[in-house]
Amino acid sequence: MQFSDVEGDLSEVLLTQEEIHEKIAVMARQIEIDYAGEKVLLVGVLRGAVMVMADLARELTLPIEMDWMAVSSYGAGTQSSGVVRILKDLDTDLEGRKVLIVEDIIDSGLTLSWLLGNLRSRGAESVEICTLLRKPDAAKVEVDVRYVGFDIPNAFVVGYGLDYAEKYRNLRGVAVLAPHVYE
Ligand code: 5GP
Repeated sequence: MQFSDVEGDLSEVLLTQEEIHEKIAVMARQIEIDYAGEKVLLVGVLRGAVMVMADLARELTLPIEMDWMAVSSYGAGTQSSGVVRILKDLDTDLEGRKVLIVEDIIDSGLTLSWLLGNLRSRGAESVEICTLLRKPDAAKVEVDVRYVGFDIPNAFVVGYGLDYAEKYRNLRGVAVLAPHVYE
């Protein structure tokens, strides 16, 4: 889906497909340097991270494995609280593994900070985070994010895996959702 297919629902285009792909290639080159000679376990957080995972995994020249988790974060309205429930757990044993969590976006960082602790407690040799997008709020909690694609403004964005009420995930780029859609 292109921006033009849902033009009336978007207030600003933030990132085109080309910009995203260029950035993913840059992140992949750094990951290849940092994990040279290693086999990395990429852990994607469903469902938003599906597109980032698909593109990052194919861009990497390292041998990788992929696994998925689904979590739900309890919160009032759109704010996450940091209280997390696992809806789908990993199938992989993390003992001694080098894990790279692949995320679409970090907002408050609460979900990810919980996930980091949870995966580290399973005996992984290392657990790092790679996110395509990060909002300024993320700076307020202590989450050490090794790879960040873009810092974006504090607006509700959709596309490239990110939804609003399950829509817009298949948009090729990332855009700010127009307020009239959710107000
Ligand atoms: P937090 O970092 O606040 O714990 O939560 C991050 C999660 O909130 C993301 O994985 C994503 O599902 C959702 N989220 C945060 N900001 C946005 C946004 O701008 N658009 C969409 N579609 N989801 C968002």
